[in-house]
Amino acid sequence: MQIVTIGENYVMLRDETTLMTKRVYNFSAGPAVLPEPVLAEAQRDLMALPGVGASILEISHRSKTFERIIGEAEANLRQLLGIPEEYTILFLQGGSRLLFSMIPMNFVDAGHPVCDYLVSGSWSKYAAQEAVKFGETKIVWDGKSTNYDRLPCKADLQIDPKAAYLYYASNETIQGVQFREEPSADNVPLVCDASSDFLSRPLDIRKYGMLYACAQKNAGPAGVSIVILRKDLLARSKESLPGYLNFQIHAEAESLWNTAPTFAIYVVSLVTKWLINEIGGLEKMEAINRGKARLLYEAIDSSGGFYAGHAQPEFRSMMNVSFRLPSDELTKQFVDEAEKQGMTDLKGHRSVGGIRASIYNAMPLAGVEKLRDFMLTFHNQHPQ
Ligand SMILES: *Cc1c(COP(=O)(O)O)cnc(C)c1O
Repeated sequence: MQIVTIGENYVMLRDETTLMTKRVYNFSAGPAVLPEPVLAEAQRDLMALPGVGASILEISHRSKTFERIIGEAEANLRQLLGIPEEYTILFLQGGSRLLFSMIPMNFVDAGHPVCDYLVSGSWSKYAAQEAVKFGETKIVWDGKSTNYDRLPCKADLQIDPKAAYLYYASNETIQGVQFREEPSADNVPLVCDASSDFLSRPLDIRKYGMLYACAQKNAGPAGVSIVILRKDLLARSKESLPGYLNFQIHAEAESLWNTAPTFAIYVVSLVTKWLINEIGGLEKMEAINRGKARLLYEAIDSSGGFYAGHAQPEFRSMMNVSFRLPSDELTKQFVDEAEKQGMTDLKGHRSVGGIRASIYNAMPLAGVEKLRDFMLTFHNQHPQ
């Protein structure tokens, strides 16, 4: 046990061995695994921020210290994704689900009465269901007929050139299908829900009108969403909107119109710092993520059908690996046995069934190797 003195009045007890050995490999879809160096730094700052003497939980969102923290979070995001000046970055509450409503509320207007939705899985479907309440919503493609195991090709999409925007989800967290590249929207602004693959790979932000992500999959804890928005689109936000739901108001106030989710933004600043300093940027992160995903998909493909992947191979997600076993009974055994061996949260979403392994940025290679080895052993123990 290590005793760390903080200021004059406090000590913090720290047991390195407990911290390291009691952590499982957590395959949760979200809130999800965070990098250990981030958790260790947050643990320290929970008692007292160095040089401040108060917890990260206790300081004003208008203090110099927090201004520095939110400034760092933004600067790190700009550096990682190469976000140019024409884009504003907002830190908002309400999660991705609130953005499902805010997007049509802000962007559909008299000049752009129609919005286009590409439905590739549960989350884009839920987003389209909200849009209907605020504008004429056209479903330009829907993968429902094969239970969302694939994505459209260019020729499948007929975009209305006057549409307010084309909406899609870059990675469907439940079905495990992921776009390799952006669907082409010509001159229509592309709006992307990147909640579950944000910061997993580089991208060209200039292709987007707006890209957003709730933090709790790949960028931080629950409580904040990150919105990257081309500034010219702010002109569409109507004054009649409720204040909190107006992108323009948040942009003018630099995300401090009301009390910001300070702790969540602080953790985003740590995660992005980790990506820059310890991983070495998003190209490196993508290479690591590809390697991790390959291990699991190879185990699926070499199992002679014992494991059956949900997504068609060319649309497979690097982040959420969804697959089935031959029976519900074996699925349950797989989940229970894996948990006993320190691999948790592997049960698939009820709409797809089977297993889902979420292997976000912070899931170490060792965790994926352990799961791959477990898959091979489990198959050998249950020959069909
Ligand atoms: C988790 C998730 C959401 C929902 O996020 P909330 O913050 O719970 O509203 C939306 N879209 C995608 C792709 C997700 O993975």
